[in-house]
Amino acid sequence: MNLEDLNSEIKLCKKCSLYKTRTNVVPGSGPSNAKIVLIGEAPGQFEDIKGEPFVGRAGALLTEILNSVGIKRNEIFITNIVKCRPPGNRDPLLEEIKVCSPYLDKQLEIIKPKLIISLGRFSMYYLMEKFNLPKESITKAHGKLFTINTLFGPLKFIPTYHPAAALYNPNLKSFIFEDFKKIPQAL
Ligand code: URA
Ligand code: SF4
Repeated sequence: MNLEDLNSEIKLCKKCSLYKTRTNVVPGSGPSNAKIVLIGEAPGQFEDIKGEPFVGRAGALLTEILNSVGIKRNEIFITNIVKCRPPGNRDPLLEEIKVCSPYLDKQLEIIKPKLIISLGRFSMYYLMEKFNLPKESITKAHGKLFTINTLFGPLKFIPTYHPAAALYNPNLKSFIFEDFKKIPQAL
């Protein structure tokens, strides 16, 4: 299956109750040969309206962070661990992550990136658990360059904070900028 077909399938999904309150599914955006995949948490209000990931204020900050290390948004694949907006932007439930994450797994299998960057705790813990990394807090793990062994070979993984949290916390914001400077080492 190619990425386009997979994303079309995701857009029809009703596997968890989030389908009842969504406006649009947000499968993700970017080319199927991307070297880098960014994984956030779940769509927010603007993403739900547009069907695109990271198009609100956190997205504007993310674009700025990417540009600061010479990366254009359209050269990478950006997605979330949960593809539909949780009502009122509440945290995604473990059950929703469990039901939705096979889509992320399939996207990664198709794209076969060299580097995954997780944004925030939810996608970080999902990857740590899936790839048998020791569980560390985001305070300790952010900006570290991990190697994970996938079905399609080893790849690099850098956890960092979520840009939405950084909107209200200048310390976190500077950590994300620093963490993204590790990208050249990982490619
Ligand atoms: N926050 C996320 O985690 N993902 C988005 O797409 C937008 C905001
Ligand atoms: Fe399907 Fe995921 Fe949306 Fe739930 S959040 S309806 S599993 S696409």
